Parts: sequence; structure tokens; C-alpha cells
Amino acid sequence: MEFSTKLLHGNEAKSYPNGATLPPISQVSAFAYESSEALEKVFQNRAPGFAYSRIGNPTVDAFERRICELEGGVGAVACSSGMAAVTLSLLNILQAGDEVIAGSGLFGGTIDLFGDLESFGIKTRFVRHMTVQEVKPLINERTRVIFGEVIGNPALDVMDIRAVAELAHANGIPLIVDATTATPYLLHPFKYGADIVVHSSSKYINGGGNSISGIIVDGGRFKWDAARYPGMKNYSSYGPFAYTAKLRNGIWRNMGACLAPTNAFLNVVGLETLGLRMERICQNARALAEEIARLARRWDERRDLSVNYPTLQESPYHTLAEKQFGGKGGGILTVRIGSKEKAYQVMDSLKYAKKATNIGDVRTLVIHPASTIYVHASEEQKAAAGVYDDLIRVSVGIEDTKDLVEDFTNTISAVV
Ligand SMILES: *Cc1c(COP(=O)(O)O)cnc(C)c1O
Repeated sequence: MEFSTKLLHGNEAKSYPNGATLPPISQVSAFAYESSEALEKVFQNRAPGFAYSRIGNPTVDAFERRICELEGGVGAVACSSGMAAVTLSLLNILQAGDEVIAGSGLFGGTIDLFGDLESFGIKTRFVRHMTVQEVKPLINERTRVIFGEVIGNPALDVMDIRAVAELAHANGIPLIVDATTATPYLLHPFKYGADIVVHSSSKYINGGGNSISGIIVDGGRFKWDAARYPGMKNYSSYGPFAYTAKLRNGIWRNMGACLAPTNAFLNVVGLETLGLRMERICQNARALAEEIARLARRWDERRDLSVNYPTLQESPYHTLAEKQFGGKGGGILTVRIGSKEKAYQVMDSLKYAKKATNIGDVRTLVIHPASTIYVHASEEQKAAAGVYDDLIRVSVGIEDTKDLVEDFTNTISAVV
């Protein structure tokens, strides 16, 4: 089955009650049972069923199963937000004294989170580029996780997942990837050796910009050494399901960052058109990046115009993106335009792009990261994340290509 066919006809889409084509919204907090014994069994995971929606809910379960099947994992756990997913994916295996190696070009919220984790005794070492050369020297006996984004947001650096996973595994460390910007449409990270995949499903998976959510998917292949991951000791009997079992019975359930049933339903609806949307989004983003690059090449260099997009010839990640994503580049590009004033002028003059702090919407969205998402970051952090004062991030939507290209090229030509 190809990608979009699977989104509609995958096994997990066939199991809704009464032949329903979508999972019914189980908008309830608790599930009642005929006998006390029956409830006891469900509560203790000795019988299938649901007890309380923070711990499990049929609509949320339907969303989790669909993503798990799509990514080829052994388990998936939905969360109230992408940040909850990132946080819990880490806290499930970390404790005070542990170290993380992460990219410095990560999503701003994730960078801030690593700062928060310092107070709990978890230290993060950042690398400018998530490459074997930069990661290897930072691995020590306290390193417990390598964390990176498949395509950095907004730095747009591309991780060679296979190479980093091999290095991690040679040192007995799992690789967790945030695949939000790549989406399952560009690649399935487990095939390249990633161990845990997290998504902010608020973005492309939902697609309509109508609910905040996240999901953690477990590839089930990492061998958790109980001496290095003491918390996993009690879950070793679960074999490949150990990480998911610990998450569900531990920090995820106890933190209470569960996904609301209605939001899970909206995600399932959105997911079904992910292939169709991504096809158009990637086509639009590529056309837009190429047209802006052409403008930049045509003008003399004093005009300070440049564009960044993974598959562009000019991108240092061109070859890797072509290879790893089969020629697709995703839906985000960034434009540098000379000054913050000009960036604002362009953003305020665009006809179709909305100024909003989100990505993965059907609508094209633009933002000035330096004064918004990265406003709490130091100059050093901003530089490391590729966030400049004259940089606009564009999350490309599904509008007609011609309209978008015209809008951007006309506006940029008038301002630069
Ligand atoms: C948006 C985003 C997040 C956080 O997700 P929320 O759903 O907003 O909590 C994490 N990682 C990446 C790459 C994102 O784009």
C-alpha cells in the first residue's frame, strides 16, 4: 500500500465500532462496569478496556493506533501537546545525573525545556550540527539520550539519522527524534535506526490548525540496559514494549498530560489527508524557494536577499535531503531580507500569508522568529539556531502555487 492509500485503508482504520468510517468521539471521563471485579481487571491491565480517560480513551486509542501503524512502531502514546510529548519521551528514561546530547538548532520550546531540566540534575550538551563528528566527542559515561530534529525548525538543518543512530547504538544510547517538520510523509525514522519518534501533531498531522497535541512512538528495538536505565528494570519482562509500558504506567499517566478525545478525533480526520496536503505543501515550498533564490541570484549582492530550503542547490543539506527524503523538502523555508524593518514590511504586505506562530496549517503562515519564538533566547542561542534579525520563517500552505509565488516575489521585489 502506498502512503495515502494506507492513510485511508490501513488495518487500524478498519476497526471502528458499527462499521463507522471514523472513530466515534468518546467524550467521557470514566467507563462503568457491571461488576467490581470487571473494573478491577481493566484497572490492573488484566483485561482490555477503558477505566478513566486520563489513562485510556477509545478515541485517543484510535489516533495512537493509526500513528503507530503509519510509523511502523510497537506502541504510541498521545499527549496534550507536542511539548508534553518531547518532555515525557525524555523523562521516561532520564534521572538526575544523566546527560543528553542535543542539537542547538532545535525548536525554541525544546531548547527552553533542556534549560528547565537542569534544575532536576539533567544536563544537556548542545552540538551546532547533529553530525557524528560533533556528537562523538561529547559522549561520556553519563550520556543517556541523543535528541535531534529530523529537519530543524527554523534552522532547516537535516539530520543524517542513519549515521547518528549508528553512533548512538555503538555507545548503548538511544536516539530520539522530533519528526514534526518532516512528518511521516517525508520518511519513517525507524527505518533509519531512530529508537523513539515524537511529533507535535498540532502541526502537519492535524493539518487544520484546530487542536494542540503530541505523540510519542516507540520503535521497540532498543535494548535497555537496566544498569544504565534503572527505571526500566521493572519493565524488562515487556520485551520490545518496555519503553511504552513504562511510559503508560508511569510518568505519562502521573503527569496527566493526556490528549482530549475531541482533539484525537480531529487529528484522525486530519491524518487522512496528510499525503495530499504534504504533496501540495512540498511542491509549493520548493517552487517558492526556487523563485526567491532566482530573485536573489539575479540581483546584485548588496540587496541582502537569501532563502533557505533543504532541497535547494545552495543548501548544505541538498544531497542528504534528496537521498533521505526522496527529493522532498518539507513545508518550511526561511528568507533573509537585510533588516528586521524589511522583514516586517514584507510580512505586513503579503496578501495571503497570515502572521501566526504555527506551522503545518493548510494556510501559509509567516513569523519573525527572533522577536517571537526566540525572544527568550540569548544572542548565542539565536545564532546557533540560525535565527537572525532579518529572517522570516514561512510555513507553506496548500494555496495554488501561482498565487503564492506571485504574492511573495511581488512583495519581496517591492521591499528589497
Ligand atoms: C511546535 C513544535 C513543538 C511543540 O509542539 P506543541 O504542540 O506546540 O506543544 C515541538 N517540536 C517542533 C519541531 C515543533 O515544531
